[in-house]
Amino acid sequence: MAENTARKGERPSLINTKPIRKKEPRQLAVINQAGCTGCEACIIFCPVDCIEIVPGVDFAQFQQVVEVDVERCIGCALCAKHCPWDTIPMLSYSEGIEKIPEFTYKSVCNHKTRLDIGLNTP
Ligand code: SF4
Ligand code: SF4
Repeated sequence: MAENTARKGERPSLINTKPIRKKEPRQLAVINQAGCTGCEACIIFCPVDCIEIVPGVDFAQFQQVVEVDVERCIGCALCAKHCPWDTIPMLSYSEGIEKIPEFTYKSVCNHKTRLDIGLNTP
């Protein structure tokens, strides 16, 4: 399986308890957090429960965003189909890995973020 070069280091312990998939998918869902409202609709449809909530400030649900743990995503595209804000591009595996840092403002999966690659945050 190709290495996930978008991850900064080890998977965090909470994420690590969830098993990774066996086979590399043809495509990946990558959340463009710039358009994410944290509505959680995508989470409901994900068949492998690989979309994680990245909390915002305490008790303010709509300041949160989500991210896909790309080592668990199977590329089924259900999340992209159901996102009301159309902010989940489906990309080829290699392009997905490349784009993760560009589309990520905050991460609980230990992915690189825009700050890590020298891009501004909002
Ligand atoms: S459905 Fe779209 S807007 Fe809602 S949490 Fe998921 S990615 Fe964000
Ligand atoms: S593409 Fe499928 S498996 Fe991947 S995050 Fe979306 S719903 Fe989950």
